[in-house]
Amino acid sequence: MDDISRRTFLVGTPAIGIAAASTKLAAAETQQRPALLGGPKIRPEPFPSWPITDTNDERAILETLRSGDWYRGTGQHVNHFEQAYKELTGARNCLATANGTSALYVALNGIGIEPGDEVIVPPYTFTATVNAVLRQFALPIFVDTDVETFQIDAKRIEAAITSRTNAIMPVHLGGSSCDLDAILSISKKHQIPIIEDACQAHLAEWRARKVGTWGKAGCFSFQASKNLNSGEGGAILTDDDQLHERFFTFHNNGTSQKPQRKAFAYDGTGANFRLTEFQAAILTAQMTRIEEQAKTRTDNALYLTSQLKEIPGITPARMNDGCTRNAYHLYMLRYDKQRFAGLSRTSFLEALRAEGIPASAGYSPLNKEPFLKAALASRPYRVLYPKQVLDEWEERTHCANNDRLCQAAVWLTQTMLLGGRSDMDSIAGAIRKIQAHASELVKT
Ligand SMILES: *Cc1c(COP(=O)(O)O)cnc(C)c1O
Repeated sequence: MDDISRRTFLVGTPAIGIAAASTKLAAAETQQRPALLGGPKIRPEPFPSWPITDTNDERAILETLRSGDWYRGTGQHVNHFEQAYKELTGARNCLATANGTSALYVALNGIGIEPGDEVIVPPYTFTATVNAVLRQFALPIFVDTDVETFQIDAKRIEAAITSRTNAIMPVHLGGSSCDLDAILSISKKHQIPIIEDACQAHLAEWRARKVGTWGKAGCFSFQASKNLNSGEGGAILTDDDQLHERFFTFHNNGTSQKPQRKAFAYDGTGANFRLTEFQAAILTAQMTRIEEQAKTRTDNALYLTSQLKEIPGITPARMNDGCTRNAYHLYMLRYDKQRFAGLSRTSFLEALRAEGIPASAGYSPLNKEPFLKAALASRPYRVLYPKQVLDEWEERTHCANNDRLCQAAVWLTQTMLLGGRSDMDSIAGAIRKIQAHASELVKT
C-alpha cells in the first residue's frame, strides 16, 4: 500500500462509519416529536453543575478559617495566588482585586484615565466594561462588532479615535480573542494604551501567548459564572512594575507596599478593592483543575462545532486568525430563522429548553441602554464635555452590525462543555429535531 492509499484506508474507513452512524442517529431523533409539542425530551438529565469542588477546597477554607488570618495584610493566600496566576499566565506582575469590575476600574485609574477622556469599547460585552469607564467620568465610545467572530471590529477602531481618546479597552468576548495584531498596531501608531478586558478569557491565547499579557494591563474576573471562580474576585496583570505599584496603592486606600512606611501615612488617594484570604485560598485550590477543565471544554467545543456546521442556519462563532486557544467561557453561534421555517429565535430557544438544552439569547445592545443617555445628560458630563461631543455621541456610537448580532445570537455556557461527547450530541440532536419540525413549531 502506498502512503496516500494507506492514509485513505486508515482515515477514510472510520470516517464513513461515523458518518453513517450519525445519519442514523439524526434520522431517529428527527422522527420524534419536539418536546414542546409533547414528544420525549432529548436530554432529561442535567448538564454538569458548577462550581466543582473537592476536599482540597474544603481544606483550604477550613485552614484559612482556623488561622484567623482573613485579610491579605496578615495572611499569605493572596500573595500565593498572585504568584501562581503570574506563573500560569506568564505575566510579570499580578494584583488580585475584589472583582473584575474593580480590576478594570483600578487599571483605568492607574494608566491615568481622567474625566474628559474617551475610551474605546465594544458594545457586545457585559455592562461592567462600560461601568468602569463611566466611574472615571470618561466617555465610552462604542466600536461596532464583527458578527462572524462576535469580537470588536478592529478595522473600525481607527476611525473612532479623537484627540480625547486615551485608552482602547477591547474584550476577549466569550473566551475567544479580539484581533490583537490589529489593535496592538493601532495602539502603537497612535500611542494609546490598551487595557484588555479578559474577564471571560482565562487561559485563552493569542499567537500562543496568554491574553491579558499583551496590553498595558489585562483584567480578569473570578465571579461565580467564570471559568475560574471564587464567588467574587479579580486580577490585573501588567509587565510594567511602576504601574503595578500604582495599582496596588490605589486598591489599598492609597497605602503603598513600601517596607519602611509609617502607619497611617498615605501615598495617594484610592479605595479598598482587596481580595480576601478566603477567596484566594479557594482560587488556589480551583486552579489545580483549570488546565484539565479548559482541555475538556476545547475538546467538546471542537466536536460540537463539527456537528453544528452541518446544520443549515446555525453558524458557530469564528475565531480570529491569531487566536491559538479559546477559553470557551461561552459557546456562541448565530441562528438564522429563515432556515428554520421562520421560527423566531425566542421560540427556537424555548423549544431547545424544552428538550433540556438551556441555551440563551445573550446580550442586548449595550450602547442603546437608557442609563448611558442618562449618564451623558448628568451634570458632570455636561460640565466635562463640549456640548457638540455629547450631542453627536449617539450617532457616533451607532453599531448596526451589533444590533443585528444581538437579534441572532445563541449562547451555551462553559459548564455545558464540561461533560462528554454525548452531551454535545444531545445539543446538536435537539437542534436537528427542532429544524425538522420547525414548520409545526411556528404554528404553536
Ligand atoms: C464578568 C465580567 C466583568 C466583571 O467582572 P465581575 O467580577 O463580575 O465584576 C467584566 N467584563 C466582562 C466582559 C465580564 O464578563
